[in-house]
Amino acid sequence: MTLSSAAPAQTAPQTPLRIAIIGAGPGGLTLARILHVQGIATTLFERETDPHARAQGGTLDLHAETGQLALRRAGLEAEFQKLARYEDQGSRLCDETGRLLLADDDAEDGDRPEIDRSALRDLLLGALPAEMIRWGQALREVVANPDGSYDVVTTAGRETFDLVVGADGTWSKVRPLVSRYQPAYSGLTFIEFGIDDVDHAHPELAALVGKGKLGIESNDARAMIIQRNGHAHLRGYVIFRVPLDWAEKRFDFSDPASVRRALEDELLGWSPKVLAFIRASNDQIVPRPIFALPVGHHWPNRPGITLIGDAAHVMSPFGGEGANAALFDAAELARHLTTTPDWRSAVAAYEAEMFERVEEPARFSAEGAATELSHRSREFGLAWMEEHLQQRKAEASA
Ligand SMILES: Cc1cc2nc3c(=O)[nH]c(=O)nc-3n(C[C@H](O)[C@H](O)[C@H](O)COP(=O)(O)OP(=O)(O)OC[C@H]3O[C@@H](n4cnc5c(N)ncnc54)[C@H](O)[C@@H]3O)c2cc1C
Repeated sequence: MTLSSAAPAQTAPQTPLRIAIIGAGPGGLTLARILHVQGIATTLFERETDPHARAQGGTLDLHAETGQLALRRAGLEAEFQKLARYEDQGSRLCDETGRLLLADDDAEDGDRPEIDRSALRDLLLGALPAEMIRWGQALREVVANPDGSYDVVTTAGRETFDLVVGADGTWSKVRPLVSRYQPAYSGLTFIEFGIDDVDHAHPELAALVGKGKLGIESNDARAMIIQRNGHAHLRGYVIFRVPLDWAEKRFDFSDPASVRRALEDELLGWSPKVLAFIRASNDQIVPRPIFALPVGHHWPNRPGITLIGDAAHVMSPFGGEGANAALFDAAELARHLTTTPDWRSAVAAYEAEMFERVEEPARFSAEGAATELSHRSREFGLAWMEEHLQQRKAEASA
């Protein structure tokens, strides 16, 4: 399959469509892979210098109808199944004393298996020709040319493309070409920490988390989430509702031991049983302020420019939808590009469907961010988990 850069009505000789993808995150890599499988070449620009330049973050649950479907269309289902951790789909909720409120421990029959972000990235990278990715080339700007093409200006030079896909995440440099909106701070800051080799080094913490994730909800505007990752690693987040610059002022992130002590001070009154997670952390500790674009974010179609994933609709992580939506955007854009004769119409159709599709997950995530750390957090957390549990059981028995 080849896509041509000419408009359908033109009869001039057709050259292959020049497609630039900005960003080698889950969205950009999935798009490059699906188009590659269809015989369509793309050029992928990534600002990181190599695949292992940065730790990729925690575990993701991939949903059957979005994330997993995208990997199936990428021809990677079998490989994904080898990496997927079905056994880690459990969830638990406890309060700040460590008292268990609800446990969904036998969830391995669910259809949202976990995969580490690094494993997902390696899976996608291994399925692409190495020369397709321009590592260490950060996008500076996209410049419109009079003939309708665009120059992609990176730290390494300038190149012309017909279609530029912004898969460059929350602070997309492609987005300003189509939208004036910038993500807004949700008011929530996550402080991320990690614990290695938990089964041997801290079996009591491994037992408390169980087979998946543990939420610790208090009604005093503080919370924690701890997730089991692959290779016996736990990744946790202490969640605060604070001004945007609070974490940088409050903690010295260059000194993890001092951050641990300060976190314990912030969690004054919490049981040593749950504070033990902070004490056991042996990884870097980093702040993750949570940003989101407005629910319903959309833009008027501009031929030659589009967005996928967080660049289009970054949302708070409460729904666990962001990476799934990024993968599915990639799959849908690729589907339209490979089935619609006119690529400009294909992109417009992708956008129209995507705007509608992501509105509900974005609303759900925004509601999660709004109700987190309220005086009724525990009650909301419990209600959400009970609903999730019923839904999972109904799906399993269907
Ligand atoms: C704490 C936290 C927990 C989360 N948990 C979950 C979860 O459980 N489930 C889930 O589905 N989602 C989760 N998410 C959301 C998920 O991480 C994102 O939705 C997902 O990574 C979006 O993928 P993406 O490819 O669109 O963007 P990104 O993953 O942000 O990738 C963008 C890529 O573009 C590159 N880039 C950026 N700027 C440039 C530039 N100028 N030039 C070149 N390259 C550039 C970046 O280096 C990066 O590689 C979580 C997010 C956070 C913050």
